[in-house]
Amino acid sequence: MRNDENVHLITDRGLRVDGRGFGELRPIKLEVGILDKADGSAFIEHGRNKILAAVYGPREAQPRHIALADRAVVRCRYHMAPFSTDERKSPAPSRRELELSKVIRESLEPAIMSEYFPRATIDIFIEVLQADAGTRCAGITAASLALADAGIPMRELVAGCAAGKIEGQVVLDLSDIEDKKGEADLPVAFMPKSNVISLLQMDGSLSEEEFKQALDMATDACRKIYEMQREALRQKYHISKEETEEKDEVAEVKA
Ligand code: ADP
Repeated sequence: MRNDENVHLITDRGLRVDGRGFGELRPIKLEVGILDKADGSAFIEHGRNKILAAVYGPREAQPRHIALADRAVVRCRYHMAPFSTDERKSPAPSRRELELSKVIRESLEPAIMSEYFPRATIDIFIEVLQADAGTRCAGITAASLALADAGIPMRELVAGCAAGKIEGQVVLDLSDIEDKKGEADLPVAFMPKSNVISLLQMDGSLSEEEFKQALDMATDACRKIYEMQREALRQKYHISKEETEEKDEVAEVKA
C-alpha cells in the first residue's frame, strides 16, 4: 500500500503531483468497436483509468413484464474488476456500484431516443479494469460511444469529467490521490450542443464561487472530450471531419 500521508498535492512550482496544471485534463485515448459480440463497444484510457463499455440492444424486453409500451427500458451495470484497485476489491456488487449504475444510466437516458423502441431493452455494461478516480465520468464517456457504435439513435453524445478542490485550489479531473486527500470532487456529465447537464454530484464542500468555477472547468473539459468522442467515431467509421461538419450544418438549419 502507498504511504500518501505526507504527500503535498501542489508543488512549490504550482503543479500537481502528476505534473499537471490546475485546469489540465489527464491524457485521454478512445477506441470504438473493439468487441465483436456486443452490439456496440468502446474502450477509454483516461489517465490511469482503463474502462470498457459494451451495449446490447435494442432487443425484446426479457422478462416481458419489465417492458414499457412507449419506449425502451435502459439498464446499466457499472462494475469494478477485483484487480482494478490497489487492494483487491470484492467481486460482489457494492452499494457504490449500485449507486453508480443508477446515476450513469440517468446521465445517459436523456441522450437516448428510447421512444423509437417500445417494448425493448437497451443494456449498458461498464467494466472498470483499472481505477484511478473519475471512473463514473470516464464510464459515461465510453458508454456513450458504445451506444453510438450499437447504432442506437441519440440526440447527442454525453461526455463526463470531474472537477474539484485540492489544498484550497479548484482543479480539473482529480486523480485517485487528489480525490482521496482533496477537499471536494464534482463529477459532471454534459451534452454540449443542447447545453444539458445530465449528471451533477458533489462530494465534500465548495463555496458558491468555487462551485461555479469547478462547474465551468468541468463543462469546458466535457466540450473537449466531446470533440475527442466524435473523432473516435470518425476513425471507426472512416468519416472525414468535413462530412460531419456538413451534417451538423444541415441539422442546425432543420432545428
Ligand atoms: P469515481 O471513480 O467516479 O471518482 P469514487 O469517487 O467513488 O468514484 O471513487 C474514487 C476512486 O476511489 C475510484 O476511481 C477508485 O480509484 C477508488 N476506489 C473506489 N472504490 C474502491 C474500492 N472498493 N477499493 C479501492 N479503491 C476504490
